[in-house]
Amino acid sequence: MADSPHKQLAVFRIAIAIPLNRLFDYLAPEGVNQIARGCRVLVPFGKSEKVGFVIAQVNHSTVQSGRLKPITEILDSAALLSAKDFQLLQWASDYYHYPLGEVLSAAFPVSLRKGKPAILAQEKHYLLSAKGQCLNPQQLIRTPKQKIIFEHFLAPSKSLSSTALTALEKNWRPAIKTLMEKGLIITELRTKPRNRANTAIEPQLIANAQQSEAIAQLSQGLDRFSVTLLEGVTGSGKTEVYMQLIQKVLNNGQQVLVLLPEITLTPQLESRFRKRFDVAIAISHSKLTETQRHEAWLEMQQGHSAILLGTRSALFTPLQNPGLIIVDEEHDTSFKQQEGFRFSARDLAIVRGKLLNIPVILGTATPSLESLHNVNKQRFQLLQLSQRAGVAIEPEFFVFDIRNKKLQDGLSEPLIALIKKTLAKKEQVLLFLNRRGYAPVQICHSCAWIARCHQCDTSLVIHYKEQVLRCHHCGYQQILIPQCPACKTGELNALGLGTERVEKVLRALFPQQKIVRLDRDSTQRKGSLENHLEQINQGKVDIILGTQMLAKGHHFPNVTLVAILDVDSGLFSIDFHATEKLAQLIIQVAGRAGRAEKPGRVILQTRQPDHPLLAVLLKEGYHSFATTALAERQQAHLPPFSFQALLRVYANNPDEPQIFLKAVQQLLGDVPLTNTLILGPVAAPMVKRAGYYHFQLLLQNPQRKGLHALLALLIPQLYTLKEAKKVRWSLDIDPVDLY
Ligand code: ADP
Ligand code: ZN
Ligand code: ZN
Repeated sequence: MADSPHKQLAVFRIAIAIPLNRLFDYLAPEGVNQIARGCRVLVPFGKSEKVGFVIAQVNHSTVQSGRLKPITEILDSAALLSAKDFQLLQWASDYYHYPLGEVLSAAFPVSLRKGKPAILAQEKHYLLSAKGQCLNPQQLIRTPKQKIIFEHFLAPSKSLSSTALTALEKNWRPAIKTLMEKGLIITELRTKPRNRANTAIEPQLIANAQQSEAIAQLSQGLDRFSVTLLEGVTGSGKTEVYMQLIQKVLNNGQQVLVLLPEITLTPQLESRFRKRFDVAIAISHSKLTETQRHEAWLEMQQGHSAILLGTRSALFTPLQNPGLIIVDEEHDTSFKQQEGFRFSARDLAIVRGKLLNIPVILGTATPSLESLHNVNKQRFQLLQLSQRAGVAIEPEFFVFDIRNKKLQDGLSEPLIALIKKTLAKKEQVLLFLNRRGYAPVQICHSCAWIARCHQCDTSLVIHYKEQVLRCHHCGYQQILIPQCPACKTGELNALGLGTERVEKVLRALFPQQKIVRLDRDSTQRKGSLENHLEQINQGKVDIILGTQMLAKGHHFPNVTLVAILDVDSGLFSIDFHATEKLAQLIIQVAGRAGRAEKPGRVILQTRQPDHPLLAVLLKEGYHSFATTALAERQQAHLPPFSFQALLRVYANNPDEPQIFLKAVQQLLGDVPLTNTLILGPVAAPMVKRAGYYHFQLLLQNPQRKGLHALLALLIPQLYTLKEAKKVRWSLDIDPVDLY
């Protein structure tokens, strides 16, 4: 056999971020026979080039050696990910049955995915040359500007950045230029200093008994892996517990990763952290620029920053010296990515903690049922903070039965009376309604025609202020018309309740009061949410009205009355997760009330005052509710007592998804089912969305292992299924909704 020209060149297996379940082989560049695993490389792919990740060197390629293409360029001299982090991503790729190239790519900021060099922004620094160090400044007497500038460098080994020079002297550039030409000054590129706390550092609070107990427990285990569920009622001082532990980890010279569900919560926590810790803090979330995220990622990777505060994708940021992972508001479903690589940042945080052998803390006032189940199974340690810290008192709940009661746009008479009383005491009122817009339905008074979205199975929502009808699923909108297009004569009425409608009635009832509405419509402009929050905290707002945005972590110390206007919508869902979500929502919204000295009242308006869920929740608290809910799940063999994977599929007609799922069923006939229950195929709860028809197949197994063994056989086949060509499909492991 003739020697192939490439015989001496090493072959590397590369992962590329494309939706294909395979890796690709490439030849090493001439003269290279080692590339570390995880290094980024540039490779020819199709007609273009792509960034890939080195997975392994291979002895034999399945590709004929003559057809192998060489790697164009090696982008990293050493892997940016540690071996442990690489392992985490490989684990995630296996567990979520998602292509390794896509998973690896998700761990990097966009800049690095595109192949940018992994270096932090640098700044030019000016300093004295050897010649400059010997010069007597008097020799510059005839060029006074040069002399002045030269003298700024006279301290030993002094260097000044452009920014520093500008602060010292205006118009310094020409003089520096001459000094450089004379060989007195040289330049050097240096990494910019990190953004450290600049305010006076505030001392720790004196922990109360429960906090001390939690801190002591957690401090004992800082050197090893464990998962702790820190269940603390809102305002119980969980953040203080985090901060005292973080201090210990920082004292050990280690870094801390803190994950939050929401971008809007990062500034609050960031400012508390900056007041407490004299270390550089990096921030990472999707609203930052590409450069900002690039910097934050590398700061942690290189150890320049000690704390990373971020949303779910920050989980993958490499840490030079990891010491602790905190997942705040662990129950929040925002930790689950709902598109592309569908991973749970909370669950992966635990896997990461285990690989790195460091503790993981999950904090919340309303633990997820999965986490409580893990506590019951003794996989997690439970620490509880049952009392509010400081002087705050817990709110009291009241159920208002609104059956057969007169409502003014959703407000009952007793509620209006309470609002009046609260405002008279100069205290704030918070009203919660989880639906934005004016009303969810526009209906004809004479022929019952309803304005529907032509692309989705849903009615259009009235947005009165903007004078449009809008679809909340696909964004389609049309101008509000006064007359029915069907019967041409009927008057069109608004049916149902949205925040805009409640705002209108509040303005009519309380014309003197300042009312702020917080929902996605009213906070679109950048900074408007921050503005509103600032006004509320300064006491300039009397009534706060909003959607679930209000349920998340914000503190409104002067609010003493909270009302949830429509509890019932959460009691009727077909999704088994709904009751858990509703209970969490009620407790979270209630937690906004009475955080200062003033006790709070929480009103629940409902047509089902005797609903057993409400009864347990209000009488015995969230933990009892969760115990009841877990028992129900166990009876029904639902997660966390079983494990699910949801195969979703859609196409622009209703047939193809069903043909695809039939083919999948056929494949399932050929693999061992290992006790897997196959539910479906069925139409998705909302079949038509944005013009596409959605169907799904749910797989459920009492054992995680059995489910994944089945998926490992099934999923690779879907990529090559001919019925897959006409549809889009995705797999959701441990789905948090069945929509
Ligand atoms: P959580 O994170 O549990 O909602 P926070 O940590 O935000 O609670 O604490 C709620 C409030 O109580 C904050 O204003 C905080 O400063 C205060 N606080 C927390 N711990 C203490 C303490 N040990 N002594 C006094 N005030 C405290
Ligand atoms: Zn009509
Ligand atoms: Zn639509």
